[in-house]
Amino acid sequence: MHVYADPAGYPTIGVGHLIKPGEVFDTITEEEALQILAQDLAVAENAVGKMVQVPLTQNQFEALVSFVFNVGSGNFQKSTLLKLLNQGRYDAVPGELAKWRKAGGRILPGLVARRRREGELWGEGQESSPASPTEGMVEQTRAGKWKGIVGLAFTPESFREYVKGLAWDDWVPEFIVLHHTEDPSLAMRPNGFTLQHILDLQAYYRDDCGWSAGPHLFVDDKQIWVFTPLTTPGVHANSWNSRTLGVEMLGDYRREPFGEGRGSMVKANAVAAVAILCEALGLDPETIMLHRENGETEHYCPGDHVYKQEFIRLVKEYGA
Ligand SMILES: [Zn+2]
Repeated sequence: MHVYADPAGYPTIGVGHLIKPGEVFDTITEEEALQILAQDLAVAENAVGKMVQVPLTQNQFEALVSFVFNVGSGNFQKSTLLKLLNQGRYDAVPGELAKWRKAGGRILPGLVARRRREGELWGEGQESSPASPTEGMVEQTRAGKWKGIVGLAFTPESFREYVKGLAWDDWVPEFIVLHHTEDPSLAMRPNGFTLQHILDLQAYYRDDCGWSAGPHLFVDDKQIWVFTPLTTPGVHANSWNSRTLGVEMLGDYRREPFGEGRGSMVKANAVAAVAILCEALGLDPETIMLHRENGETEHYCPGDHVYKQEFIRLVKEYGA
């Protein structure tokens, strides 16, 4: 195989590997070409895995890997497509894909066709994927009782955008209740929550507890997971359920530190999430409650390492 110019005039070799500065190839064997292809695919898969913060179906993942393989992970990182997708705008992806049809300033039929195939592949996952906060519930009902979960993970920035799109028409929470998960502890979730963990939690609340919902958020050191839809009451704090949003923080804060290491990152994400919700709902941060302040619970939740007044102060500072 020989080096050739790709349709945009960039030097390319083998099966579509763009030669980077510092790489010198003249001729390569088919085996070498396949090896490079595998490496490039792995780079694209890693980029999609790392940069996309919302759950994807297998088809959606493959569509994005094809896209990133073609346009490069740097372009993907800067793209409007990624930004909208991480806000939960699954619907925007096919249209955003279609914009990437030019190379060297020209519209190329090959790219138009490739983007269309990727868009179609993306759409095939639609039925089983979280398409929007309401349509997107991973499992809508069970015997008409379970309310379903949203199952989307956000950074504080993308969470703010997500919350902007919500409307509390039917139900308005009066205050926010803080919890810690205790079990699992931080040590039990060294990489935070994965989608599978979230689905396992759904099974726990729905099947083991037989509840209609769970808490609204699961916050770890990496992200803010939306569990029970924020516009409907959850189940997390006894008599407060009908009036509150429940925020679970990953960790056992009787034993694990909340002021340093991973605990402090959970704290930062929880402060951001609570501040964003207070702002969106017009709630005074002074109304924040710890679960253990509800007299009906026997759980000492969250543990003593969570100081309410400090948390409130940080929420106010975040909003200011
Ligand atoms: Zn609790």
